[in-house]
Amino acid sequence: MVLVFAESQKGNFKKTAFEAVTYGYKTAQALGTECVALALGSANNAADLGLYGASKVLHVADAALDQFDGQVYAKVIAEVSQQVGAKVIVLSHTSTGKAIHGRLAARLDAGSVAGVNSIPTVDGGFKVKKGVFSGKAIAEYAINSEVKILSVMGNSLQPAIVGSPAAIEAANVTVPASRVKVKSVSRIEGIVPLPEAELVVSAGRGMKGPENWGIVEDLANTLGATTACSRPVADVHWRPHHEHVGQTGIAIRPNLYIAIGISGAIQHLAGVNNSKTIVVINKDPEAPFFKAADYGVVGDLFEVVPQLTEAVKKF
Ligand code: FAD
Repeated sequence: MVLVFAESQKGNFKKTAFEAVTYGYKTAQALGTECVALALGSANNAADLGLYGASKVLHVADAALDQFDGQVYAKVIAEVSQQVGAKVIVLSHTSTGKAIHGRLAARLDAGSVAGVNSIPTVDGGFKVKKGVFSGKAIAEYAINSEVKILSVMGNSLQPAIVGSPAAIEAANVTVPASRVKVKSVSRIEGIVPLPEAELVVSAGRGMKGPENWGIVEDLANTLGATTACSRPVADVHWRPHHEHVGQTGIAIRPNLYIAIGISGAIQHLAGVNNSKTIVVINKDPEAPFFKAADYGVVGDLFEVVPQLTEAVKKF
């Protein structure tokens, strides 16, 4: 059986959860088995997971799980997966998934691959591919352990409706007490989080200072895109850290990534190179980012970006 941990926030399942279930369903088909989803804490629309291929949804309803704690989640997912005899566990490659992945693998003595973007093949052993070296190469991993854990890169497949609403079954698990005390949570409402964003407008040190970000936000708002930034920009607090993409930031895979005044250092590319279409705006024709770009504009961003925004508005 393939068990998919479906992430939710305030009881609502995210797009990444539907992607993970679609991935789990296709993996289960390859293995000739069923795909079961797992929901933890409040779960408003859990039956919808069936639309994407889950034959049923196991639900651990304990209210303590509304507060995310990687240790607690890993323990609960491990216990459920052992109860149902899951052979493959699918997570989303999000900050939540990353906080669970290693802990779960250690608990279950499972082989694991993080950030996969293709369905495993099973002829001649269980193998799965993922992009490596900033997307410059594809590595194929064979997993030989009895239990296997995969986390799915966001936007690597379209959630597809293949079934009907699933039955929800209570899973009987003792939820351990969390050792984490959360004092406050501040949410940024209204924007699509970077791992789920299909359109991203990102900017770097070429912006000269935080006071100039208005033109980036105008373009992002016009497109309905999420904003991101390079690391030095977050390091000097021109932008919040949750916008930092790259090797040490968030790895994303949007349909469109617009890079404004970013040189395209390897560490930046590591997090964005898998974007489906990359547009680079840079005044230096030798900027390394142009080598990774699908479309490039050599020019002063302070002239190009407002013109682009106006052009999009007319479109
Ligand atoms: P710069 O390299 O200074 O580039 C600014 C660009 O703006 C230049 O190409 C310039 O031509 C252009 N520009 C300037 N003015 C204009 C204008 N008016 N119009 C148009 N273009 C203009 N970086 C990340 O982003 N993410 C990471 O996760 C990350 N992890 C790292 C990990 C390690 C271990 C290390 C050592 C570094 C890491 N870095 C990371 C830093 C990385 O090496 C680069 O230093 C950084 O990405 C550069 O940021 P930048 O492109 O914004 O700035």
